[in-house]
Amino acid sequence: MFKRFWIVTLIVLLATGNCFAQGGRRGGGPGLGQGRRGMPHPPIGQVISSISKSDLSEQERAGLLLMREEEKLAHDVYVKLSEKWPLRPLQNIPRGEQMHMDAMKALLDRYGIQDPIDEKPLGEFSTADMQKLYDQLVAQGEQSIADAVEVGLLIEELDIADLNRLMQQADNEDIKVVYQNLTKGSRNHLRMFWRQLGRYNGSYTPQHLAQSEFDRIARSEPERGQLITDPNFQF
Ligand code: MN
Ligand code: MN
Repeated sequence: MFKRFWIVTLIVLLATGNCFAQGGRRGGGPGLGQGRRGMPHPPIGQVISSISKSDLSEQERAGLLLMREEEKLAHDVYVKLSEKWPLRPLQNIPRGEQMHMDAMKALLDRYGIQDPIDEKPLGEFSTADMQKLYDQLVAQGEQSIADAVEVGLLIEELDIADLNRLMQQADNEDIKVVYQNLTKGSRNHLRMFWRQLGRYNGSYTPQHLAQSEFDRIARSEPERGQLITDPNFQF
């Protein structure tokens, strides 16, 4: 019943061209996901611009550059692995990662920071660390479908750990609100990969989050609904 509802919703969205697949660009500015009934959220760009800009610390600046590349890492690894494995999260999640990349670009533009990614093609990064991680994760994920699921879990818990740290370091509300929504997206992605793990007889030990925190996220319900607008939201 619920599945059928989603299929019908998808068909309607595709038929009307009201598709959020391109990072919400068609709706005018990057959005972050869709509501329960396929209604577009207020675009994150609109939320950001309603918050006044404040001074950018060196840590905040470094964080923006890191997350712009880390969202591309997630996107590019999933797209690359989706060419090899018919794993549903790999088909669906890149759309969300594109929105996350767009949200980070909106922050870079807002603070006049040059985009480290610019027009870099799929699988190419500006920092050696991120390039190495991409190469390593693609090589691992191509070994088996269970490995691809584990790579997904690793990327999502890394994202969550980095975003939690960057939110602690940041005091600019626009940055924190974007990070809140990226973290929410990552929690949902982690849950999606987690559901696939048993199916492919995979096993996973978290490397970036405490086991208890990983379990708390993986075993909880998906988070639906509107964008998080509270910069100090606690999951
Ligand atoms: Mn993401
Ligand atoms: Mn993700």
